[in-house]
Amino acid sequence: MSVLLTNIGELVTNDPEHGGSRQARPTGAGAPGSGGAGGLGIVTGAAAVIMEAGRVAWTGPAASAPAADVAVDLGGRSVIPGFVDSHSHTVFAGDRSAEFAARMTGEPYTGGGIATTVAATRAATEESLRARAQALVREMLAQGTTTVEIKSGYGQDVATEARTLRIARELTHETTYLGAHTVPAEYADDRPGYLRLVTGPMLAACAPHARWVDVFCEPAAPTAFDEEESRAVLLAGIRAGLGARVHGNQLSAGPGVRLAVEVGAASVDHCTHLTGADVDALAGSWSAGPDGLRGSGTVATLLPAVEFSTRSPYPDARRLLAAGVPVALATDCNPGSGYSSSMPFVVALAVREMGMSPAEALWSATAGGAVALRRDDVGHLGIGARADLTVLDAPSHTYLAYRPGVPLVSEVWKDSARVILPR
Ligand SMILES: [Zn+2]
Repeated sequence: MSVLLTNIGELVTNDPEHGGSRQARPTGAGAPGSGGAGGLGIVTGAAAVIMEAGRVAWTGPAASAPAADVAVDLGGRSVIPGFVDSHSHTVFAGDRSAEFAARMTGEPYTGGGIATTVAATRAATEESLRARAQALVREMLAQGTTTVEIKSGYGQDVATEARTLRIARELTHETTYLGAHTVPAEYADDRPGYLRLVTGPMLAACAPHARWVDVFCEPAAPTAFDEEESRAVLLAGIRAGLGARVHGNQLSAGPGVRLAVEVGAASVDHCTHLTGADVDALAGSWSAGPDGLRGSGTVATLLPAVEFSTRSPYPDARRLLAAGVPVALATDCNPGSGYSSSMPFVVALAVREMGMSPAEALWSATAGGAVALRRDDVGHLGIGARADLTVLDAPSHTYLAYRPGVPLVSEVWKDSARVILPR
């Protein structure tokens, strides 16, 4: 059965076939940049045909739409590709709201930070972990997110890391092994021992449930990992068949970005503190090789909800964009440094606090996330893309930042199923 979605006021396709843009498709086949409004491949007065198999069959002006089995009138609302949230930590137990309240009132926080969540997650039942993760992914869908990446990292023992990834795999294909999130307390005096566990038995137990390996590379944080340790974690994961991603340069201009480029990581996430050499390395990862073809470089994924929730300076998105580095935006949804599941909130922050245009921010929250996950079937609505669409009760995508905090997502199409949200 085919479905014609028609009377779309503004359709954002991120497809260079529309809008006269030379923007590359989000395939990682070139440095797409985040473009201007032209890069969004916008069609006004539009329609789209989606097939039962969950793929986009046609987009264009409504007046020239082909026939379909069923027609759905979207009443002039706008349609964007479903958000691609390429960075989240949504399998965990416990509550850290008191830590947030203390931080916001300037009180010294003496709690255990990530260790608090690790203890609660180890003690939780699989059913309770699953129920909470399912609820968070539903919450994300209700805000327009149709693809989400989920990391482990609150187990830090073999059984809990593997359990986390099994649950995550039920919710998404984009699962990331982050045993090297922090060094747990019981290994505080034996870091090499924890490295052996993370790169040995824990990796073996987790790799079957994971697509990616990640590490918190931050020499400035005593429980995170330095360059040499991080390299060992990433290379072990790569040898086990996983793709690499890195938490880097969040608290200091450390080695994370350059290490991510060195190992061919799909993305380095945070990028709050960058040197000129870091920016050059990211840009260089997208430059053409001897054959003239551009490779799949390393995306800079920015997580401004973390800076919001920790009252920290925001990353310099404009510097990255000016250098031609593809930028993604994601939530980093986690109980400690930023507990928002909302991509519209992240888009609004990127526009207001990081100087991105509404068009750049939307591209980064959709196509940018797809490049960061090396996916060419999501983040855009070109022919053959997954029919993951988010319908905004607004005349244009600009309203995402223009009306911050307002629940504009009125329905979502995911795997050809229509999810209508209560208003
Ligand atoms: Zn994170």
